Amino acid sequence: MLLNARGKKFLSYYRPYLRLFIADMVCAFIVAAISLVFPLLTRYITNTVLVGSQSVQLDLIFRIGLVMVALIFIELLCNFFITYKGHYMGVMMEHDMRNELFSHYQKLSFSFYDEQKTGQLMSRLTNDLFSLTELYHHGPEDVVISIIKFFGAFFILLSINVPLTLIIFSILPVMLVFALYFNKKMGKAFKQNKERVGDINARIEDNLSGIRVVKSFTSEGSEMEKFDVENNRYVKSRKNSYRIMAYYHSGLNAFTTMITVVVILAGSTFISMKWILLGDLLTYLLYINNLTEPVKKLINFTEQFQEGITGFQRFMEIMEVEPDIQDKPHARTLSQVKGAVDFEDVGFQYASASDYVLKHIDLHVEPGEYLALVGSSGAGKTTLCSLIPRFYEVSEGRILVDGQDIRDVTMKSLRSCIGIVQQDVYLFAGNVMENIRYGRPEATEEEVIAAAKAANAHDFIMELPDGYNTDIGQRGVKLSGGQKQRLSIARVFLKNPPILIFDEATSALDNESEKVVQDSLERLARNRTTFVIAHRLSTIRNARRIVVLGDEGILEQGDHAALMAADGAYAHLYRMQFEH
Ligand code: ADP
Ligand code: MG
Repeated sequence: MLLNARGKKFLSYYRPYLRLFIADMVCAFIVAAISLVFPLLTRYITNTVLVGSQSVQLDLIFRIGLVMVALIFIELLCNFFITYKGHYMGVMMEHDMRNELFSHYQKLSFSFYDEQKTGQLMSRLTNDLFSLTELYHHGPEDVVISIIKFFGAFFILLSINVPLTLIIFSILPVMLVFALYFNKKMGKAFKQNKERVGDINARIEDNLSGIRVVKSFTSEGSEMEKFDVENNRYVKSRKNSYRIMAYYHSGLNAFTTMITVVVILAGSTFISMKWILLGDLLTYLLYINNLTEPVKKLINFTEQFQEGITGFQRFMEIMEVEPDIQDKPHARTLSQVKGAVDFEDVGFQYASASDYVLKHIDLHVEPGEYLALVGSSGAGKTTLCSLIPRFYEVSEGRILVDGQDIRDVTMKSLRSCIGIVQQDVYLFAGNVMENIRYGRPEATEEEVIAAAKAANAHDFIMELPDGYNTDIGQRGVKLSGGQKQRLSIARVFLKNPPILIFDEATSALDNESEKVVQDSLERLARNRTTFVIAHRLSTIRNARRIVVLGDEGILEQGDHAALMAADGAYAHLYRMQFEH
């Protein structure tokens, strides 16, 4: 594992904290060494005391006592460092990875998000990374401490008394098998717990985001029942894991006690046969923890490793997704855009679809032109517009802005010259001012107000409880549809782009707010290249050019009168709406 690219990547996160890591390892080493030294000191005292004279004894006890106090102090410092700085190192590594993943999320394109579930992407950013930190921090430390303690104790015991050591080491493998067996079961139980937590979260998320629907259908009761089912399944799963844990811990305790008892019984027999000194037996008893604890620790480590590596794999799965739309190495910056847009024989197919949505689209739009796109639902109007800001890459042909292929310019400069107003308005939690400013964060308050006025939003904003400082709630729930739409238009006014896309911007609104919004849209469109997708054909009657999209590409184009006279697809659509 350490040889492949992912392995290298895994280790690379230690790099910024190498000094901290080394200090952590040194501390772990010292803690382990001290735990080995203590029993040896005890042995030295007892064995000397048993043979030496009174005054020598007191002097010796005093001096060794001093050494022990010093060691305790050093151990305390090291343990403090491991717990505090070691965890800190882990959290910092998690911080770095989380930033890296979040920043990668920002780069991935629409086609990636078309295929992913938001909840899943969130858990990769939180839970998964958490289990990884635990591994990063505890892993090496636990391994170092355990190995030193275990082998240190083994060789020291062996040098003191071979038969007694062999007796102990005949019990340890049994303990190991027992621990491994239950550890595996525990791992499964914990995994199940996590899944159940996931289920509960999914239910909560589903319920809370649809809470308005729940209430309108008065289905609180049945929602509670569904929730209780998940909640109970979770309790059952936890109960099961505690049962296994109980076996595991009580069993391991029993093994430790058993080893102690065996050492006492066998040791006493050996003393009576003069095979071993009392001090040596005491030493043995003190070392028992040094043997059993590493076994438990190493077994915990295997589980931590499994969990951490799973988290890391899930992290890498996303990190290894290359954004399918990126700037070319020497992409130019698009500046001083006049707003000419050309589609040259453009074809487009969604990655997940089997057929082309757009075929042979040729469209030349002059700067400042107001162009209406019509066609039946699913004809590809939205898709066509989403190709201009390069939300998706054309499959065939090319799109030019001011004569430059949009694949040759930076995405930032391209997207900053395009403003989009859609049917679904996305507002961020925060106040009115912040939301309008999203179009240009450095805008002054006067500019924001001017934009709001241009978007017919100023008056209603002033009527809100705190004016521009009014909090609009999550996704803007405290505003009406028309108000939200006007804020989103103000946002675009502030951005001031030469190219606009209105995608059914008024279709979710009632007649009255439609008029107000339509009015501000028309003001916005003045002197800008505008693509309008209209739900109600009456709103685009005055467009100089209407383009009708169908399955086979552009069916016809012209102004309203010409298209009506041609009596084709447009006339058909128009009559259908008119008759309604
Ligand atoms: P319109 O805006 O004209 O109603 P769209 O451009 O939204 O049509 O959709 C055109 C076709 O592409 C439809 O058949 C739709 O199902 C499909 N489509 C739209 N978005 C996606 C997507 N993200 N992934 C796959 N297919 C899509
Ligand atoms: Mg659409």
